[in-house]
Amino acid sequence: MGFEQMPLQPRLLQNIQAEGYQAPTPIQEKSIPQVLARRDLFGCAQTGTGKTAAFAVPVLSLLAQEPRRGKAPRALVLTPTRELALQIFENFCALGKGLSLHTCVLFGGVKQGPQVASLESGVDILVATPGRLNDLYHQGFVDLSRIEIFVLDEADRMLDMGFLPDVRRVLEKLPEKRQNLMFSATIPEPIKALVDEILQNPVHVRAAPPATTVEKVEQTVYFVDREQKPKLLQWVLEDPRIGSALVFTRTKHGADRVVRDLTRAGVRAAAIHGNKSQNARQKALSQFKNHQLRVLVATDIAARGLDIEGLTHVINYDIPEVPETYVHRIGRTARAGRSGAALSFCTIDEKADFLAIERLIRREIPEVTQHPYPMQNCTPMTKEQKEALRLEKQARAEAARARRAAREKAGAPARKKAPQPPISQKPASQKPAAQPPRAKRPSPKKAAPEQKRPAPERGARRTPPARAFRPDLEKYVPKTLRRPPKKH
Ligand code: AMP
Repeated sequence: MGFEQMPLQPRLLQNIQAEGYQAPTPIQEKSIPQVLARRDLFGCAQTGTGKTAAFAVPVLSLLAQEPRRGKAPRALVLTPTRELALQIFENFCALGKGLSLHTCVLFGGVKQGPQVASLESGVDILVATPGRLNDLYHQGFVDLSRIEIFVLDEADRMLDMGFLPDVRRVLEKLPEKRQNLMFSATIPEPIKALVDEILQNPVHVRAAPPATTVEKVEQTVYFVDREQKPKLLQWVLEDPRIGSALVFTRTKHGADRVVRDLTRAGVRAAAIHGNKSQNARQKALSQFKNHQLRVLVATDIAARGLDIEGLTHVINYDIPEVPETYVHRIGRTARAGRSGAALSFCTIDEKADFLAIERLIRREIPEVTQHPYPMQNCTPMTKEQKEALRLEKQARAEAARARRAAREKAGAPARKKAPQPPISQKPASQKPAAQPPRAKRPSPKKAAPEQKRPAPERGARRTPPARAFRPDLEKYVPKTLRRPPKKH
């Protein structure tokens, strides 16, 4: 069924067309008619499937059938992060043009004044994160007694981020009689319980499983030692065809460190994570979208659901511990039928997590062996070594914080960071011998005659022996990283 066959207002159809949506995505095709028929709905779908429009289109259509009486909102969309709230808000604004419906967005980390002013001017659709919504409710600025449609977006993420109590607090304030829509990428037990609690006789719809997105992304892995990841990233970014890259780290400090390293190397980069102010996050995101920044470094929570049009490269600087996170990460690229590439940097200690990803997506991710920083350290750390490393990192971070605080107290200008010795990954006795100097990317003229690499046995290939940089193995380099032939 096309959008034209759905009972939607002509103006809404016009807006859908203006957004470039020619045909509904599967989740939209299944959801829109059901929501228009005023059914409760549970959608198992992740971002990238078109799920926002799957609820935005019918919500707009239903609300546009009658004008609002009073100032209280008639639809409420709860979503876990500020970035998602803004994205959903923008979607509602674009799809709702000319329908005389007012959408308002609430999220924390910014001044509440403009949000309160927007609420007071009358609202049809309220898009909010749970914390700020509860806060403004208790201050008496939000009236939830007229909500006709409630949308709970990214329910599993709400759960992961510990927002379910906040969500329940919101639910208590909603009128009994209402239509409920709930979306979640995964369905763990607590989400099943929430479905039973919130939804009345719901229709269940499911978007194509994540593997569909995964298939469109050209994926590769680079086995590397932890200490060499910064250099590997800089080397990878030497390729001018990587116009913009979204780089994922496990931690916020890790994200900041990557940005510092890249900035020193002359790459325009910024980070978004929970320690950054909302304004800093928005600025970084819009600069990245406008191509003023080449690299955006993000933690999983901050980047959840980010929709960056035309993003071609995702780099997993750290391998995620939860395999599904990998699918979410690489789903930022290859959107709306486009292709994309995902590069993963994997150390010996991340190998188990990497293999879990391969099991989840049921495919082997090709290894790029032709890079100047091949893995030298093939012995995973013991539990004790991991703990010692964690404590060492923690002590360093605390010392750095203390130095910063002391400088700020003394009113001294920010000092350039003194070079620090690398954090030891292993006790000195177990450290590998000093590595030979790294080869620079040589010119193709110097390339040695091609040697065929024997097909590696599965399992064995993950602990490669120390390899020299092999510039001649062009065919092992993913297409996206291959340099165009030189013009003579
Ligand atoms: P979402 O899953 O809601 O985050 O949407 C992912 C991306 O798909 C967004 O950039 C939408 O603008 C886009 N999109 C949504 N619906 C359609 C459609 N029917 N046709 C083409 N693109 C769409």
